[in-house]
Amino acid sequence: MRLSCYLLLGVLGLVPLVGSAADAPAAGTTAAAQALHLDWLDRAVSPSQNFYEFANGTWQKDNPIPPAYPQWGQFGIVSQHNKEVIHQLLEDAAKNTAAAPSSDEQKISDFYASGMDEAAINKAGITPLQPELERINAITDQKQLQAEIAHLQMIGVNALFGFGEMQDLKNSSKVIGVAGQGGLGLPDRDYYLNQSPNFVKIRQAYVSHVANMFLLLGEPMYTASHDASVVMDIETRLAQASMSQVQQRDPRAIYHIMTLKKLDKETPGFSWQDYFANVGHPEIKSINLAMPLFFKAMGRDLQRTSLEDWKVYLRWQLVDAFAPDLSKPFVDENFKMQSTLTGAKELLPRWQRVVNAEDEALGFAVGQAYVAKVFPPSSKADALAILHSIRAALKDDLQTIPWMGKKTRLAAIKKLDMMGERIGYPDKWRDYSALEINRGPYVLNVLRANLFNNQRELNKIGKPVDRNEWYMTPQTVNAYYDPSMNNINFPAGILQPPFFDPNAPMAVNYGAIGAVMGHEMTHGFDDQGSKFDGRGNLKNWWSLEDRHRFNENVKCIAKQYSGYTVDGDVHVKGKLVTGEAIADLGGLKLAWIAFHNSPYYKDAPTIDGFTPDQQFFLGFAHFWASNTRPEEALRRVTTDVHAPAMYRVNGTLANLPQFQQAFDAPAGSPMVDKKRCVIW
Ligand SMILES: [Zn+2]
Repeated sequence: MRLSCYLLLGVLGLVPLVGSAADAPAAGTTAAAQALHLDWLDRAVSPSQNFYEFANGTWQKDNPIPPAYPQWGQFGIVSQHNKEVIHQLLEDAAKNTAAAPSSDEQKISDFYASGMDEAAINKAGITPLQPELERINAITDQKQLQAEIAHLQMIGVNALFGFGEMQDLKNSSKVIGVAGQGGLGLPDRDYYLNQSPNFVKIRQAYVSHVANMFLLLGEPMYTASHDASVVMDIETRLAQASMSQVQQRDPRAIYHIMTLKKLDKETPGFSWQDYFANVGHPEIKSINLAMPLFFKAMGRDLQRTSLEDWKVYLRWQLVDAFAPDLSKPFVDENFKMQSTLTGAKELLPRWQRVVNAEDEALGFAVGQAYVAKVFPPSSKADALAILHSIRAALKDDLQTIPWMGKKTRLAAIKKLDMMGERIGYPDKWRDYSALEINRGPYVLNVLRANLFNNQRELNKIGKPVDRNEWYMTPQTVNAYYDPSMNNINFPAGILQPPFFDPNAPMAVNYGAIGAVMGHEMTHGFDDQGSKFDGRGNLKNWWSLEDRHRFNENVKCIAKQYSGYTVDGDVHVKGKLVTGEAIADLGGLKLAWIAFHNSPYYKDAPTIDGFTPDQQFFLGFAHFWASNTRPEEALRRVTTDVHAPAMYRVNGTLANLPQFQQAFDAPAGSPMVDKKRCVIW
């Protein structure tokens, strides 16, 4: 569990076809004009009415969501391209049966081959998981139940709660254990508790889905539907005890270091000493119990609910975790529920599902091969040059911002100076030598990889922090700021067109990848990131007055975004998206300043009537061009700390006088916020 701030959340059940973003340049247009994507514009919309639609309207009409996706946009397209590169790489590797045993090459090739062997997977059905089902059936007392919960968690099952490692929020040189809420089959507590018709409908679909899975496990109809209601009851109680997404954003609210004695007192009915021994770490003496109220309720429920009901729940969580890796009936039933949650109409082709699973299991071994193929050292140097110009803009901003007192200013500059930056891929690659991967059964490769990755994580507890570790694989199309490390990370996967394009006008690159870089940097100074100091410790470095002024500005953002809706009437949760909205606003402003300070600005040409500043804002808006299904929009607005794409663009731009000026937007138009929020 880490408190990283991502650029965007992953997509549920990721990824298939549809052409690449880069079309061949039309005759008579330059590569630069082509990279400005003027064919995406909907010129019937005024830029000062709705800039997102002006910039992307035609793209949206021309690019309906492919059936297998909940959402389709630039991230999906680039991610799709990366998967194709990896697909080819894995196809080639799988043909090589002579790879040295236990080498990374043997593992990535055997994992892929076992996942592609559909005939063997379908023939085996549930058989490979039979030993796991027998373990659950053999439980006869509370002690065994708690031991089984620990075992299931280690092999990747979402049994009641999660346990992992984190840097101590108040002592970032220390790695500690952390237990957090979990155990739900639906995406969030709201899905169990919210009474609006959307959620009621999903709950009904969920209960019949759980029953269908029990039928597939061989239960008779009557038992299956009874068991589904047992699962729903248990999960609803867990949901009631869970902390909301908004509450979890505050690091102090999820930081409760407790000794064994305190832990046992907080969670009567659950033995932490046994638990630590069961996950292989009897030496652990204290952890962060992130959500004490959740664990108190869980401990009570462990005692009150019958063993038979718990066994039902664990069987469900087991099959739910591995259904995508089993035979066709399990895959299809699992997809049916995914489809209810995201709106996706079709299952991804098998190769894509296997590539996605392999990304989870052996992501850095795959990443090493990916980087060797696609990421030349020159890309790293070009990206660093842009990054450093944005860093200079932030430093300048911190030195001159009028509302900040001297003490806070110096501390803020110090924090920025200490911020680490990483581009492309890790210096040291992950060691997978202890992981056994073979040609099948596929589901057991997935299970062993889960166990390996969980053990690897828990083995860090009590050891010094490894500051070279990456938490995102190089092929990922995303970026992140880590408040405990105080570093920004840009994997190779995002450093390519249309985010970063050597052929595009520099105005466009600054509006796209420049804004991403500024976004991650700003996270160090958003409403939550700003509670950590330069060493990554949760420690106040603000004067009281400055913090108060800052909090007022933060409220302005929360209020602005609470006014936005999706699907007609579902409101964006302003307090959930505040940190990301601050990073979007700060990031774009910094990129704009850096562009103006750069040598490129002076000579930047006007292209097809668009000034360099206008190109900059088009680059930013194009980045977020996407279409989203209503089911997925509901899921995101419920769980995602990022606002919907259109508001990430329009909400940000409405706060920037630079935008108003660039497009000559009249005061009072929708793209000019009456009460402009200013943060950085
Ligand atoms: Zn972010």
